[in-house]
Amino acid sequence: MHGHFYQPERRNPFSGEIAPQPAAAPYRDWNARIDAECYKPNAERGNLRHVSYDLGPTLAGWLADHDPATHQGFVDSDPSPEADGADGGNAMAQAYNHAILPLASMADRTTEIRWGLRDFELRFDRRPTGIWLPETAVDMPTLRILADEGIHYTILAPWQAADSRLDTRRPYRVELSGGKSIVVVFYDAALSASASFESDATMDADSFAVNRVLPRIAGPGFPDGSPRTAVIATDGELYGHHQKFRDLFLARLVNPGPEVPDRGFDVTTVGRLVGEVPASVFPATQIAERTSWSCHHGVLRWYAECPDASDGRWKGPLRVALERLASAIDTVAGGLAAEVMEPAALWQARNAYVDVMFGAVGAVDFARGRLPLATDEQRRRFLTLMEAERWRLAMFASDGWFWGDPIRLETKHVLLCAAKAVRLIDGAAGTNLEGRLLDDLSTFTSPSRRIDGAGIYNEALVEASQPAAGAAVLADTVVR
Ligand SMILES: [Zn+2]
Repeated sequence: MHGHFYQPERRNPFSGEIAPQPAAAPYRDWNARIDAECYKPNAERGNLRHVSYDLGPTLAGWLADHDPATHQGFVDSDPSPEADGADGGNAMAQAYNHAILPLASMADRTTEIRWGLRDFELRFDRRPTGIWLPETAVDMPTLRILADEGIHYTILAPWQAADSRLDTRRPYRVELSGGKSIVVVFYDAALSASASFESDATMDADSFAVNRVLPRIAGPGFPDGSPRTAVIATDGELYGHHQKFRDLFLARLVNPGPEVPDRGFDVTTVGRLVGEVPASVFPATQIAERTSWSCHHGVLRWYAECPDASDGRWKGPLRVALERLASAIDTVAGGLAAEVMEPAALWQARNAYVDVMFGAVGAVDFARGRLPLATDEQRRRFLTLMEAERWRLAMFASDGWFWGDPIRLETKHVLLCAAKAVRLIDGAAGTNLEGRLLDDLSTFTSPSRRIDGAGIYNEALVEASQPAAGAAVLADTVVR
C-alpha cells in the first residue's frame, strides 16, 4: 500500500497564517479537519508502519507546527537505516511544491526535486531512495534529474508505461542517458481504483484481501525469482477523510493481527521491495512521455482544456501569465544579484534555500555564508531575492489548475503566491512587473462569476487582508 499524503501550502504568504475556512467546520480549516479525520488516526493506529507513504513538505511543515505528535508518528514509522529489515524504509520524498514537473523549466524541476529531497533528509534523518512525483507526472528529463540526484525508484500509474500489456506485478527499470537507470513500480490499477472509489469494497478488509488482492497475485513468482506483487497507490486522505472509517479498513488490511490466519500474501513497502535491489535486476521498459495518474490526457489538466474539467479555457492563459512572471522575476533577480555574486551562485543559493525555509539555518547565517564579503544591505537584498524565488516557485502548485474554475481558493492561493513574489521583486528593483501580470491575468475569465483573472487576483488580495485572515500588513489593493 502506498499513501500519498499531501496538502498544498495553505498559509497566506503575507501573514504566514491560514485563513479560517468555514467549509471545513467544525474544524478551523481543512488541514485541521483532515488531520483529525486521517493523519492523526492513521499515525496513532500504527498503520504507517506497514505502508509506504510520502508526506508532502508543505503538509509536513504544517503538521510539525500544529500537531507535532502526528508529525512524529510519520517520522517514527520510517525505520532508521540501522534497524533490522529497514531496507529502503517506508517513507518516500516528494517534490517540494507539488508542481507538475514536465511543465516546469529544467532549473525549476531541479530546485523542486532538491528541495523535496533535502526537506526529507532534514525531517527523516536519512537520504531518501524513492520519490513521489506530483500527480505522478513524468517525462524522461525528469527521470534523468532523479537519477542524477541519486534517487533509485518512483511509482507510476500503469497507463504511464509505453507498453500497454505490461505486467504490473513486478518492478521495471527505465534506462536513461549516460548509462543511468531508475526503477519504476507501476501500481495495480484495478485494486487502487477499488480502494479509492468503491466504498463497498473497502467495508471489509478481510474480504478485500481474499477476494480482491489474492487473485491478483496468486501463483508462482517470476522466473528470475521476483515475487508477484500488487501495489495499491492512492491518496492517503482516503483513509478516514474522503471516506469515514477507512483508516480502520487500512489497519485491518495491512496489520491484521495474529488471530487472522495466513492470507496467502505478505504486506511489505515499496522501499523494501526495490529500495536496495540494483535496477539491473529488473526488466527494461519505457514510459509514455508527459503522462500522469489523474489526467488521462497526458498532463493537459494543468495547462489546457482537459475534458475532465468542466471548463479549462482559463488554464492556458493563467499558466502563460505565471510563466512570464517567473522568467521576469528570474531576470530581475539575476540583475540585482550580479553586483555581489556570479550568476550560477544565485541559482545554487536558491537550491540550498530550503534549509532556511525548513529552519535548519537562520536567514542571516545563510546570507553570510553565501556572501562573506558583502555588506549587510547587500545581504538583505539577496534574502529578498531568495524569498521572491521561494514564492515564485510556490505559485506553480498543481492545485491551482486542477479544478474547473479559477475562482476556487486553490487558484486564488497560487495568485497570492504570485503577488507575494512580484511585490518583493518590484519593491527591490523598482520595476512594475505586477502591472504586466495584471494585464496578462485579464485574458481569462471565471466561468461561474464572469470576473477576469485580474479581478480574481484583486479579490484574493482583499480577502487575504481581512483581519480574520491574520494578515499583518498588506500594501494597498491594486489599481489597474
Ligand atoms: Zn485529463
